[in-house]
Amino acid sequence: MTVEASDKQPPEEKTTTFTCRFCGQARQLDEMRMLTRFFPPLVVCRECEKVTA
Ligand SMILES: [Zn+2]
Repeated sequence: MTVEASDKQPPEEKTTTFTCRFCGQARQLDEMRMLTRFFPPLVVCRECEKVTA
């Protein structure tokens, strides 16, 4: 039985990620918070939202 080398590409993640303006980490949308008290609104992650609250 021959084992073929798999050259299949892994399925691309369909998740949308945003980059936190504070820590620079790319995170999923549901981990992001938009700080609408800034203009333009700042998109930051949940952790940084705590820090800036
Ligand atoms: Zn952050």
